[in-house]
Amino acid sequence: MMANVDGVIQQAENYCKAKGARLTTKRKQVLRGLIESNKALSAYELIDFCHQHFGEKMPPMSVYRILEFLEHHHLVHKLNLANKYVACTHISCDHTHAIPQFLICINCSKVKEVSINQATISDLSETAKNAGYDLYTPQVELNCLCQSCLPA
Ligand SMILES: [Zn+2]
Ligand SMILES: [Zn+2]
Ligand SMILES: [Zn+2]
Repeated sequence: MMANVDGVIQQAENYCKAKGARLTTKRKQVLRGLIESNKALSAYELIDFCHQHFGEKMPPMSVYRILEFLEHHHLVHKLNLANKYVACTHISCDHTHAIPQFLICINCSKVKEVSINQATISDLSETAKNAGYDLYTPQVELNCLCQSCLPA
């Protein structure tokens, strides 16, 4: 759980403002949903979450559009394999965003975002090149078991 959800939302709002975009109430709710749930959610799980927590009924189309906006502004990430979304861990950070690696718990969907070091990306890119492929999105998604889901 991120320490101060309101603080993070505020940061996100300032960030959007600086880019000439507006973090509207609905956009905020979706972002808050991802931050508060602290795990990967599909658009439909997010709709449920917003309904339960904010009493808001959002049509799937607008949720997808909101997610696109948030992704564009690097506030959320899309997990391509799981087709789910997570809040970026670095919303309130100043440093440049490295290429993320997502550790995804296959049991509870809790996600940890860590950075991949440059050497690993070079390796991946090299391996792809040797196979005749050009690395397009180096984002790495790994299926894991988190600490709380590991059998004792
Ligand atoms: Zn991130
Ligand atoms: Zn950071
Ligand atoms: Zn877990």
